[in-house]
Amino acid sequence: MNSPILPGSTLGVLGSGQLGRMFAIAARKMGYRVHTFSPDDDTPTGQVADKEVTAAYEDLDAVRDFAKGVSVVTFEFENVPAATAEAAAQHAPVRPGGSVLHTTQHRLREKTFLKTNGFPVTHFAAIKSQDELNAAIKTIGTPSILKTAGWGYDGKGQIALRSADVAESAWKKLATTEAVLEAFVDFEMEVSVVAARGIDGTFTHWGVIKNDHSNHILDVSVAPAPVSDAVTKRAVEITRGVLEKLEVVGVLCVEFFLRKDGELIINELAPRPHNSGHLTFDANMTSQFEQQVRAICGLPLGSTQLLRPAAMANLLGDVWFDGDTYREPNWAAALAVSSDIKLHLYGKAYARKGRKMGHLTALADSPELASEHVVKAREALRS
Ligand code: AMP
Repeated sequence: MNSPILPGSTLGVLGSGQLGRMFAIAARKMGYRVHTFSPDDDTPTGQVADKEVTAAYEDLDAVRDFAKGVSVVTFEFENVPAATAEAAAQHAPVRPGGSVLHTTQHRLREKTFLKTNGFPVTHFAAIKSQDELNAAIKTIGTPSILKTAGWGYDGKGQIALRSADVAESAWKKLATTEAVLEAFVDFEMEVSVVAARGIDGTFTHWGVIKNDHSNHILDVSVAPAPVSDAVTKRAVEITRGVLEKLEVVGVLCVEFFLRKDGELIINELAPRPHNSGHLTFDANMTSQFEQQVRAICGLPLGSTQLLRPAAMANLLGDVWFDGDTYREPNWAAALAVSSDIKLHLYGKAYARKGRKMGHLTALADSPELASEHVVKAREALRS
């Protein structure tokens, strides 16, 4: 086994958003230094890092210089170009490896990888033209969802096809050269399993988390999810299989649809800490961010034990607006809902509707109560 990267060393993060920020907070708690690389400055990660490098991901000389100054490189954003990860890998180990990025940053590659390896996915077809879309609709049917093959997240780059007669307008509107048509999954619940794998293959996970979305963006996550032991066992088994097959060193989240018949279907993979795992910061013995530090540094992974049921509510920029009027949310009112509520803000300079600005986590004696408290606290922000 490689010798571990010890506290005092410098960890490099490609990307500079809130995931990098929470990673940096966990790393600094353990005595590591953190450098971050992205095209922006005064970023959520940069504000808590030791050094913020501002350069384009395509500036491979800058990427190489960055990698020379750190002991290991990780990323907080899966759309880092593959060439950037390769350039970094010339000077420092990149964990998870660039091949994990390559597979998961492209829907078609990801779905093909999953299907080929026997993991459950909905029927899908690769689409490169209007004719291919028309043909695929005949086999996959409607309702179905047309998604761009690359660069999509939070529902961006996707159009629901309710019937075959909207195929032409949907293909024009998507305006892409490569897409995936997916059969619509009539799900009962969306759930995720965030998991980590160490350099020695050790596997840990945070159980099944229930996720509610609003406008395709994660809204509220609750742990543990109200699912049977059999569903939990199966979801964890699938997740372990994915991390092993991809040889992940670090954290990866598997997002699932749970069908009414109890079957789990993988929606997508995120090769990094995930929004649904933010509650692990306050609710678990080891958070997803600390585990990422431990995994990429080759240290033993920590216990993921859930200390108390928890719920997380995202705070989008919308919370700062009353119609079109910008106003400060009522933080004190939110924290007064329960003394077991934690506020996380990401240091973004200004709020924009739809922008992820922070989150609230509530701990309580049951997941239902935690969920009730976190939603009430978020509502109180507007009082
Ligand atoms: P995505 O960006 O692919 O994760 O999609 C965002 C959201 O759209 C998901 O969390 C689901 O709520 C919904 N969605 C995406 N694909 C499907 C599908 N094949 N069937 C049903 N709902 C879907």
